[in-house]
Amino acid sequence: MGKMPYGKSWFEVSRTALESNLSALGRVAGSGPSGNQPRPALLAVIKANGYGHGAALCAPVLAHSGAEWLGVTDALEGGAVRESLQAAGIAPVDQPEILLMCGLEASDVPAAVQHHLTPVVWFSEQLEWLAAHADSRQPLPFHLEIDTGMARQGVRPGEDLTQLLAEISGYPQLTLAGVLTHFASSEIAGSALTRSQQQLFKQALSQIEAARLTPAWLHAGNTSTIDEARLLPWLAAQAEAVGARLLARTGLALYGYALPLEGDVPQLAPSLLPAGTWKARVVAVRDLAPGETVGYNATFTAPEPMRLALLPVGYADGLRRELSGSDARPGGWVMLHGQRAPILGRISMNLTTVDVTQIAQAALGDVATLLGAGITADDHARLAGTIPYEILCGLRARSVLVA
Ligand SMILES: *Cc1c(COP(=O)(O)O)cnc(C)c1O
Repeated sequence: MGKMPYGKSWFEVSRTALESNLSALGRVAGSGPSGNQPRPALLAVIKANGYGHGAALCAPVLAHSGAEWLGVTDALEGGAVRESLQAAGIAPVDQPEILLMCGLEASDVPAAVQHHLTPVVWFSEQLEWLAAHADSRQPLPFHLEIDTGMARQGVRPGEDLTQLLAEISGYPQLTLAGVLTHFASSEIAGSALTRSQQQLFKQALSQIEAARLTPAWLHAGNTSTIDEARLLPWLAAQAEAVGARLLARTGLALYGYALPLEGDVPQLAPSLLPAGTWKARVVAVRDLAPGETVGYNATFTAPEPMRLALLPVGYADGLRRELSGSDARPGGWVMLHGQRAPILGRISMNLTTVDVTQIAQAALGDVATLLGAGITADDHARLAGTIPYEILCGLRARSVLVA
């Protein structure tokens, strides 16, 4: 993935945290399925540039820690991830499979074939595009998505699926290697929507069986699907019934976050470590006299003598403008010398001012933490009225791998 052409902040990604989160996920995912069902394999979702952490930077760490699959956005990202695995010295046979998760287009196909990316497919044209690049001596694998209630990607169970399965059976140069669906509300334990999605998925699986197709992999859901104690055992039973291996997809938890689980005891949250720490240096310090105002539209007025530190980061870097602090409403904060330095005035495109009046040792060149210990993506999300996913994906900082 290319380096950003501007921006002075950086995002430190902890190898230890990624490894530890992946193993916590393996533990929780493996604790559900009972009896002699094998443990599910993990698909580490590194789409959207690894949720802002750097897909090519995270991929080798996750591969070394046992992720059997990686999930990317498109062929461009998938190609960069393959190259990063190669550059990390992982032999092709030892590299994870890579699932191309989002919106396969005709133009993705050559790169998908070249980099051995397995596309998610759900309509006829996609089969045609793939078939045109395939050869029956070495069939191209793909995963078939079933729409059970997201109305996003996926073929509907019933007639649409019957029709598509007939087309699939007509392509000797293609292999249905996996079947998947996605749950819309798995963070609400036992929700009626999930139950109806389970029924539809089951119906699709029997149609696939009836068509004598034998996918090797079956997968559904996300981090919350692993956290919700009842779904994985059910999925494991479906996988066993069709002779497939269960794959558990997870993104957010790899990076140390999980949505609150409604109606059940979350198992993951206590074991997760935030993987990324966003940092920038203080580039200037100045005093503020009582009555002086700060930033665009003068939304903050100093009531007393104060000290401000300037950080070279703003909304262009993904620091949400909702974190601005005004006279009317406190905003977000950064961490400096282990203390909170509140954001004062409007966050600008590439500059932000923070209050260091109470932090006597604050000085030029100090490193401030914009997101990490003391100020998490959950804090940013709450203040910005969004979800931690959007905060992490929205960061535009250079990623560096640290211990
Ligand atoms: C992004 C995505 C995931 C990962 O979701 P998390 O909540 O981050 O674990 C899983 N499956 C699909 C289809 C996705 O698009």
